[in-house]
Amino acid sequence: MTVETKKETYLNYVNGAWVASTSGETKPSLNPANTKDVIGYVQMSTKEETDQAVAHAKVAQKAWKKLSGNDRGTFLYKAADVLESRLDEIAECMTREMGKTLPEAKGETARGIAILRYYAGEGLRKVGDVIPSTDSKALMFTSRVPLGVVGVITPWNFPVAIPIWKMAPALIYGNSIVIKPAQEAAITLAKVIECFEEAGFPAGVVNMVTGSGSVIGQALTDNPDVNGITFTGSNGVGKGIGQGCLARGAKYQLEMGGKNPVIVAADADIDLAVDSTISGAFRSTGQKCTATSRVIVEAAVYETFKEKLLAKTAEITVGDGLESGIWMGPSASESQLNTVLHYIEKGKEEGATLLAGGNRLTGEGYDNGFFVEPTIFENVTSDMTIAQEEIFGPVIALIQVNSLENALTIANDVEFGLSASIFTSNIQSMLSFVEDMEAGLVRINSESAGVELQAPFGGMKQSSSHSREQGEAAKEFFTSIKTVFVK
Ligand code: NDP
Repeated sequence: MTVETKKETYLNYVNGAWVASTSGETKPSLNPANTKDVIGYVQMSTKEETDQAVAHAKVAQKAWKKLSGNDRGTFLYKAADVLESRLDEIAECMTREMGKTLPEAKGETARGIAILRYYAGEGLRKVGDVIPSTDSKALMFTSRVPLGVVGVITPWNFPVAIPIWKMAPALIYGNSIVIKPAQEAAITLAKVIECFEEAGFPAGVVNMVTGSGSVIGQALTDNPDVNGITFTGSNGVGKGIGQGCLARGAKYQLEMGGKNPVIVAADADIDLAVDSTISGAFRSTGQKCTATSRVIVEAAVYETFKEKLLAKTAEITVGDGLESGIWMGPSASESQLNTVLHYIEKGKEEGATLLAGGNRLTGEGYDNGFFVEPTIFENVTSDMTIAQEEIFGPVIALIQVNSLENALTIANDVEFGLSASIFTSNIQSMLSFVEDMEAGLVRINSESAGVELQAPFGGMKQSSSHSREQGEAAKEFFTSIKTVFVK
């Protein structure tokens, strides 16, 4: 690797320096709202460069873990301050790079800052328990120790929040990291890494290598010096990473897809249910793992709910997320747009009725981007592809039911179990939902999307490897328990 000045091509950050890949290969990062706008170039780095980054991280971790939690926290607080000072610039980069609207991008960046501060504070919280020994002359306690080097593999849909909710806990508990961001959002992450650089983290503690998942992600999965991998992304890729880690005895944490239902009971506040459904399904162009994709409505209120939903959907302004007044941006990439259009066709083929949207948007302001209309299907049955597979786009499947019991059966009739919500005013319905809904996040009278940084987050069934991220729960993954017996 040779050291270069960082220009339009965003370099790797390894051992405290920005370095060019020997591959010489780069890919342009294009604005999905206007592909004539090139944000910069992302390097397609090599396996060898990933292994070098891991080697530096391994050396750096030895000194990093010796610092007090308080001292490690100081670096996180500084990174939060730098990120805060660059919030507008980084949010704008995010909007240009992956399309979510500027207010959403600002909100996400603010979330990243709050997560850094939360985990900075973790450096002063307890890392063990005293357990009474059967030997009255002995002291027995537990302590938490870092894993070592953690590989961080992230998707493009939350380019700031997801990397930070993995990096911050990894670092505060004494691990070093090598992060491989999704290609579609690597420039936004490079800017976040610049904040870590400015915060003065010791060389080698934070490293970033960009490139293809099948090269860089695979290299992290296979490297015996990577002690744990934390991954968010699709199920297929996640399972491969899990198998690779299991084969060599490394720890892994996988957060994957969702097919999140909303149940609207006959006694629901319909206006609230409509607003929350719109927000859950269409914000971020439906590209949240917790996005609402199935809306299961009791027959008594079905028509009212449907009419109000259609009226509100018609008000949605779609366009370049940098422009004020735009509510929904484009799909993040051409392949994502094609996936959404494929599922819309599938819905039609399988007999669902298209009520709204269903098309790629064309014409002035749209032709150079990957815009799709907010889309609603009705007459959807639970066995249809659009009711079973994750679309990751602004598509709602309306399913009518004649009882809440039936609604819950359908809500659970998918392989995923990430998030779910119900709208009802009946306490018994709320409690049944909490008890019987197979999801890691259940929300009542609130949209399916949305997590709080201080609470555990993760899915059931095929949505996760059953570990939890965020809040105090992150400690479970990023540390090992050591039981100490002193006599
Ligand atoms: P992918 O699984 O395609 O990619 C995720 C990351 O894995 C990318 O950095 C990708 O690199 C990398 N990768 C690809 N192939 C490999 C490989 N063989 N080995 C190691 N790493 C690899 O997901 P998307 O980026 O498309 O993200 C969308 C998905 O993420 C959706 O399914 C969504 O549900 C899920 N998601 C889940 C969340 C959760 O918390 N449960 C939250 C947000 C999203 P590359 O740059 O080459 O693509």
